[in-house]
Amino acid sequence: MHKKLFIPGPVEVRPDVLAKMATPMIGHRSKDASELQRKISDKMRKLFYTDEAILLSTSSGTGLMEGAVRSCTLKRAAIFSIGAFGNRWFEIAESNNVPADLFPVEWGTATTPALVNEVLATGKYDLITITHNETSTGLMNPVEDIAEVMKKYPDVVYCLDAVSSAGGTKIEVDKLGVDICITSTQKALGLPPGMAICSFSQKAIDKAGRVLHRGSYLDLLSIYDYIIKKDYQYPSTPSLSHMFALDYQLDRIMEEGLDNRFERHMEMAEQVRSWAREHFALFAEERYLSNTLTTISNTRGIDVGALNKELGARGYQISNGYGKMKDKTFRIAHMADCTLDEIKDLLGNIDDILGIL
Ligand SMILES: *Cc1c(COP(=O)(O)O)cnc(C)c1O
Repeated sequence: MHKKLFIPGPVEVRPDVLAKMATPMIGHRSKDASELQRKISDKMRKLFYTDEAILLSTSSGTGLMEGAVRSCTLKRAAIFSIGAFGNRWFEIAESNNVPADLFPVEWGTATTPALVNEVLATGKYDLITITHNETSTGLMNPVEDIAEVMKKYPDVVYCLDAVSSAGGTKIEVDKLGVDICITSTQKALGLPPGMAICSFSQKAIDKAGRVLHRGSYLDLLSIYDYIIKKDYQYPSTPSLSHMFALDYQLDRIMEEGLDNRFERHMEMAEQVRSWAREHFALFAEERYLSNTLTTISNTRGIDVGALNKELGARGYQISNGYGKMKDKTFRIAHMADCTLDEIKDLLGNIDDILGIL
């Protein structure tokens, strides 16, 4: 039996979107390929509220995280971490020999504008990474407030990991001053895993032009240059199957309307939060709760594995805690094309099972 996924990626993909993955192939050097990639970029600009360039990468989001830090750090990167995915960015920098410092906070709390200001005031850094939506802790960073601070540092390249939030909540890339905003297909966009997308600002382009060793496959500047020269084509063969599905899904997202989509995510989030407050507790700081997934503190000490097994028998799957929080928390994703009714149905089943367990 197929289990309906309420995990923070991969998410449940609608059958019509899945079917688009089976579109017959076209040549990747054809006019049709250019046209397909141009259309996707135009729609992604709307979704990201940006006028800057869009890059598609046949990799998961981690690929573009690597590409961003390696391609655009000339001096030193300041990595702000609020959980597992912030830490991943630091590991990426270190393994690429990119000079970097890690600025972690206690899990469940946010990166504050004051911390960003304090770190950048040293003048040591020319790139920062911020996690928009930390999928381990269920916390959404205050990017509007961080944007205010970033106005004081116009030369610093601002990279934002929006992998688990883009498409589920509003991220106004240009207004926030973000230079490289990164997402993956398998989260709030509602597609299968295998492709990543980012915005790439003129500031980032100029910076990359001064970086000597940007790698190869994930060199964001060489991808950008190729798109410009070859009319939206890519240096190597991209996953055209994902492109067909992404193009189609972006139309569906625009049909729903971005604001409606974000509103639906809020309603689902509210539903899960109030359920969690009643039965358990929320892991992240109240004022920074994520709109796309909820991390719940396992205050009742339930056997999360047993719960998920029972849920599985009924056709649902939720997620245990991330890494070190495996049994201390569990996570319910409410993103992509999931509906409020599906969330209510899931929570009803959990209530029922908890009565049994
Ligand atoms: C899933 C996730 C990633 C990793 O993305 P992949 O597409 O799996 O490489 C990075 N950051 C966050 C916040 C995520 O949720």
